[in-house]
Amino acid sequence: MAKESLVKEHVDVVIVGAGPAGLTAALYASRANLKTVMIEQGLPGGEVNNTADVENYLGYPLISGPELAEKMYQSAMVFGVDHVMGQVTKIDIEGEAKLVYTSDKCFISKVLILATGCQHRKLGLDSEMRLNGKGVSYCAVCDGFFFRDKDLVVVGGGDSAVEEATYLTQFASKVTIIHRRDQLRAQKLLQDRAFNHPKIHFIWDSVVEEVVGDQAVEAVRIKSLKDQKDSLVPCQGVFIYIGLVPNTSLVTSLGICDEEGWIITNERMETSIPGVFAVGDVRQNTLRQIATAVGDGSRAGHQAYLYLQEMDANK
Ligand code: NAP
Repeated sequence: MAKESLVKEHVDVVIVGAGPAGLTAALYASRANLKTVMIEQGLPGGEVNNTADVENYLGYPLISGPELAEKMYQSAMVFGVDHVMGQVTKIDIEGEAKLVYTSDKCFISKVLILATGCQHRKLGLDSEMRLNGKGVSYCAVCDGFFFRDKDLVVVGGGDSAVEEATYLTQFASKVTIIHRRDQLRAQKLLQDRAFNHPKIHFIWDSVVEEVVGDQAVEAVRIKSLKDQKDSLVPCQGVFIYIGLVPNTSLVTSLGICDEEGWIITNERMETSIPGVFAVGDVRQNTLRQIATAVGDGSRAGHQAYLYLQEMDANK
């Protein structure tokens, strides 16, 4: 649709993304009586939906990811957020106005809160792309069930790799974690669980060079970084957890990201553009947790209110 023919809607706050950070920002902004639109292309709750069990979010000693996501969504909607299901196609800043485009609308807002999160990094192999969905996966919760009594490989050494490897043991006969160093990055508790699990094995100092298979995964070819030797690890599934990349393609031209693409903010969640905030996993940050996302969202929702008050006072 041509830009000029889009329906225009003026609002106080637009939030892009409805993970824990976006949902909390929406709760705070709407509760402060701000006209709040939250745009999300997927399921509210974001990555929490792809987490089997959450055991480090206060108030819920153990809860399934999808259940927590649903509770968060219900809670965020209480004060009248307009939840728009769809994809944001473009963001423009024109003075104090933030223009957020979807396929059929242009939201013109005074405050923009970016809560677009991140996605799993890919190994970048042709064979990985070709066998994606045919044994290569980035989501144990979504796909683990299909690998009952199979041998699996998990690539990576962080919290995600180790936690998801442990999750996969309920289906798989054997899970081999392949890590490029000889020490895990994951939290000690998660490491201990994996080290003590009879189904989990480790291959250290090695990288995956090829996912082998024609119509389905049959093995991975790995290279040892110690002696540069290649070897094959037979498996029927490969789960890749080698870190995250930010979803910031919509805002790269705004000059608010660091060299890796994460959005830079101060402790008030403000970017360098007045009225533009960033929260949760998309923000340059050393800890990415549901709890930190919720903290970010509450701060940005409150700051949005203060920012609009100041705008009014200066009129
Ligand atoms: P991460 O912490 O960045 O770990 C990525 C892992 O992949 C590292 O072990 C890294 O190796 C390895 N790696 C990176 N690039 C690679 C490549 N090209 N080839 C092979 N290996 C590669 O990412 P994550 O585990 O996805 O976690 C992301 C964030 O979410 C973290 O902040 C984490 O704490 C958080 N998280 C928390 C929980 C929890 O609290 N239960 C669960 C999941 C995730 P090196 O170690 O050598 O760098």
